[in-house]
Amino acid sequence: MILRRTTELLLAALVVAGCAGSPTRPAPASAEVRAPTENPYASVALTADLSELSDNQKEMLRLLLRAADLMDEVFWKEAYGDRDELLESVADENTRRFAEINYGPWDRLQDNASFLSGYGEKPKGARFYPDDMTAEEFEQHLAAHPENAEAFRSLYTVIERGPSGLVAVPYRERFAEQIEQAAALLREASVLAEDEGFRRYLALRADALLSDEYQESDLAWMDMKDNPIDCVIGPVETYEDQLFGAKAAHTAYVLIKDMDWSRKLARYAEFLPELQEALPVPGKYKAESPGSDADLNAYDVIYYAGDCNAGSKTIAINLPNDEEVQLQKGTRRLQLKNAMRAKFDRIMLPIGEVLIAADQRTHITFDAFFGNTMFHEVAHGLGIKNTITLKGTVREALKDQASALEEGKADILGLVMVKQLHEKGAIEGTSLMDHYVTFLAGIFRSVRFGAASAHGRANMLRFNYFEREGAFSYDPNLGVYRVEVDAMTRAMEGLAREILILQGNGDYAGVTHLMEEMGTVGPRLQADLDRLATAGIPVDIVFEQGAKVLGL
Ligand code: ZN
Repeated sequence: MILRRTTELLLAALVVAGCAGSPTRPAPASAEVRAPTENPYASVALTADLSELSDNQKEMLRLLLRAADLMDEVFWKEAYGDRDELLESVADENTRRFAEINYGPWDRLQDNASFLSGYGEKPKGARFYPDDMTAEEFEQHLAAHPENAEAFRSLYTVIERGPSGLVAVPYRERFAEQIEQAAALLREASVLAEDEGFRRYLALRADALLSDEYQESDLAWMDMKDNPIDCVIGPVETYEDQLFGAKAAHTAYVLIKDMDWSRKLARYAEFLPELQEALPVPGKYKAESPGSDADLNAYDVIYYAGDCNAGSKTIAINLPNDEEVQLQKGTRRLQLKNAMRAKFDRIMLPIGEVLIAADQRTHITFDAFFGNTMFHEVAHGLGIKNTITLKGTVREALKDQASALEEGKADILGLVMVKQLHEKGAIEGTSLMDHYVTFLAGIFRSVRFGAASAHGRANMLRFNYFEREGAFSYDPNLGVYRVEVDAMTRAMEGLAREILILQGNGDYAGVTHLMEEMGTVGPRLQADLDRLATAGIPVDIVFEQGAKVLGL
């Protein structure tokens, strides 16, 4: 029981990795310095309604923003090194801004290709390890000094060269200056907190920064239920360390809970068991019961700092990563509503203007986009995690194909859930057509993340499957797509069935075949994607943010 739960949670964590992963595009032909007109990011002011907050709460927010800035300073050191020296060396203002967005001279949307001359390739392990250290040297050191394994593999140490070889230095020492200030700010903020749970969490998080022991604060974070203000802060995700995926990078989100939307989300979680029951597959492919501990809430983010602010931006969080905490308490899923809104306004709507039939464009709505994104997250919990063919977990059986298929499952099951909830009258404010047309526009948005991204491949598969099944039609004269409702409903259920069965059977050969056949971008779709680039539609967003933007 515990084992299976662990596997599920591991899967959940991996899936989140897929959700939050950076979209990538093909590397540029040459150009060492990117021209400003090619900047793939739209700049958006990050705001939220703070009018309900007390003076104490506003003061607390100011302290949290300052603590977040310290995480940003630390992340610069982890990702690149000396921020000020780099930025001062770049004369062109747009290029300097681009270096800020990327936290260094390497383009995160283009597989870290260098956009400034003289910097070479980004070290795989960023600055968590000596630049010239290889994976072999690291392993050899541990073979000779097994007593160092724990410290070397710790999430919370950097590896440096000492006088007599490699040494592990704890974050609390390596980044002492920033860490001590941040802990003091969290303590101050804790005193101002009006919510008892949040007060306790902030105090424990301050302790954690100073001790590099995070578990107690993670448990306290899971215990918070009603606090209107939230903050994720400290070393959290390990994507920045591409050498071993072992070192956690410093990050901070400051968040305001959206009570109205959170109440709506709580209602949907109740439907999970009956939605699992209604999946369009034979009983044996839906024999597991979905997690009922889904803690799903909506937030506005008022600050992204450090790791989460580098390159493309996450619009949903699923934490904590500590498996022992997950076993005890589950995880919390946070939907970041204003960031989603920004992506909708700046990317989804313009894509619709170019690629969706004029009379269907009014169906591209934010509420439908939010719903589709949210049900994607919820749908990860449906279906099955273990094969019914004794091949172990779905993830083990499907290996390198697992992520893309799981993302594809979440997308399509999310839409199946929307349809079923609509039939029950459980969704208000959107029509089914809104969800369908917004979903189709969303395929074009995500296909642009490229074949290197699990999301990109999942969307290519879906586009080709939908095309074959007539889920949309194409007007070659106008270059626009139109949803064909009945065929789309059939195609969506057909694809959901196909994916669930491939997963349940752990059919690696079947998935590989399907992906080879359908996981690519054909010439017409490529031409349409090129039109999006020509129209200057951004791939992702960056934020103008901070106390001034918020009027704090
Ligand atoms: Zn996902």
